[in-house]
Amino acid sequence: RRQVSTSHRAMVTLAGTGVSGGIAIGRAVCIADAGDDVLRFQLADEEIETEMERFAQAQVSAVAELRKAQAEMGRVVGTDLAGILEAQAMLLEDRSFGGRITARIRGRQVNAEWAVLKECEELGERFAEAESEYLRERGEDLASVGRYLLSALQGVSHHELSEIEGDVVIVARELTPSDALRFARENVVGFALEAGGETSHATIIVRGLNLPAIVGLDGILELLTDRDPMVIDGERGEVVLHPRADTLAAYRGRAVRIEEREAALEETRLVPATTIDGVAVELLANLELLEEVADANRFGADGVGLYRSEFFFIEKSPEIPTEEEHYQLVVQVLESMAPRPVVMRTLDLGGRKLAQALLPGEEENPVLGLRGIRLTQAHPEILRPQLRAFFRAATRGNLGMMVPLVTSIEEIHEFRRLCRGVVAELESEGVEHRADVRLGAMIEVPAAALVADHLAAELDFLSIGTNDLIQYALAVDRNNERVATLYQPTHPAVLRLLQRIVEDVKGKGCELSMCGEMAADTLLTPFLVGLGLHRLSMSSRSIPLVKERVRGLSVAELGTTVEACLTCSTAEAVRNTLLAAHPLPELRA
Ligand code: PEP
Ligand code: MG
Repeated sequence: RRQVSTSHRAMVTLAGTGVSGGIAIGRAVCIADAGDDVLRFQLADEEIETEMERFAQAQVSAVAELRKAQAEMGRVVGTDLAGILEAQAMLLEDRSFGGRITARIRGRQVNAEWAVLKECEELGERFAEAESEYLRERGEDLASVGRYLLSALQGVSHHELSEIEGDVVIVARELTPSDALRFARENVVGFALEAGGETSHATIIVRGLNLPAIVGLDGILELLTDRDPMVIDGERGEVVLHPRADTLAAYRGRAVRIEEREAALEETRLVPATTIDGVAVELLANLELLEEVADANRFGADGVGLYRSEFFFIEKSPEIPTEEEHYQLVVQVLESMAPRPVVMRTLDLGGRKLAQALLPGEEENPVLGLRGIRLTQAHPEILRPQLRAFFRAATRGNLGMMVPLVTSIEEIHEFRRLCRGVVAELESEGVEHRADVRLGAMIEVPAAALVADHLAAELDFLSIGTNDLIQYALAVDRNNERVATLYQPTHPAVLRLLQRIVEDVKGKGCELSMCGEMAADTLLTPFLVGLGLHRLSMSSRSIPLVKERVRGLSVAELGTTVEACLTCSTAEAVRNTLLAAHPLPELRA
């Protein structure tokens, strides 16, 4: 996919997939990831001493943590096991062990986390090969000591991107949602990634925060070194490395025009999303973070159709948010949206959105594993404080709650049982709450789509999550760039599932909406509205564009388009049918 567009000394243009719009101009910070959340940063000469100091502090606090655990263990299970921790504390304090790590930080100019990880790996391999059983067992101690050090380092404050002057573009292979969240709040203006997809969660976060991002830039890490100047154009999916002065000037001009276009879109805030023949379409916002509420208001959302509450857990990790913190969050969202409705989704952790500290252990197929409602049923103690907060906050606004990854009616029954328990608890404690909170479920697994009629009979609302529905229906990992071209929202199988859901839910007194990224795709608006989906939830910035599209449609005439799409045998034919019947307006900037 890479193309080198100019022969000028060092300027190189790469093409990827733009997943979040706008222009970012900054200096590259290249991040190599080692899985498990440990990233490798190359340090500048002047950063080394600070890094040594960070490591020294982490060593002290890791020893303190270990001693605390040792005392606790001594009390609970006796001194034998506590002796193991004693050996680990001694290893941690051992001068030559610490010396190897600091030598690595200094010698290779890398961050302390990386030095710890690599040192533990290397020593661990040597221990594992040792003849003596005693030494082989020390290998386990080493792994544990490494974990203590890493978590202490994370407490000592991450390598500070803000120490780098000016705007930063993160260049990495892939980002976890928690990385995206952390970086997005520093002086980062954009992301250029080798892997990732249009609907991966890191993408959703940066889109929500309106930071330009491009994925699918295979090999970009090899073409760059830290602090190289670069431009990314999220709208066109273009990256320019070492831009020439005239190229930079052109991009600056484009950035201004994009801002002007956005400001003009904002003007449509008060215009209703009504078709030519008077059918009102509700356009709601998808939110992940509290700071995104401002954009929901700025772009005229009719409410919040999906609040992905799991990001609150990722934000607070390794702590689990308390009931009070959940309560404050929901009340703030409700009050800033009032009187419009807000749908909070119960945490959808697991799969790729794994806060390691909450859920240790590996799964071979996490996306088919303990995720969404399955996880909260296996660990109701994680969900309970959130549910208590929802029932309490419901007195303060128009709240609905929605469960993710439902596959069967039994899950809903079980969930209601849990809710009844929570409500009974609040009642007996005399805590102010509202028991009749509207309850809904995501339809994001083909199984749920095929029993949508049964779900509709039991629930107040349903919302189609196409990001996962497409992934599971087409067996295409939504995060895997190698199969990105197979991730096709217009695949006839997807359209048939949507049609079936709409038909089966109709007349059941259950509200139906769509909150996957498909809801924001203006190519598909005529199909969705024509099908009868008149409640669409999307990232706030997409609302004006979808609204403009809706205002140009006439529902009475959409029946033919829908029928034509449903008879197509390929995704491409569906796209062409839609493009021919409802050409897309050109985006100018
Ligand atoms: C979906 O799957 O479409 C959805 C909205 O949920 P998420 O993107 O958080 O998985
Ligand atoms: Mg989903």
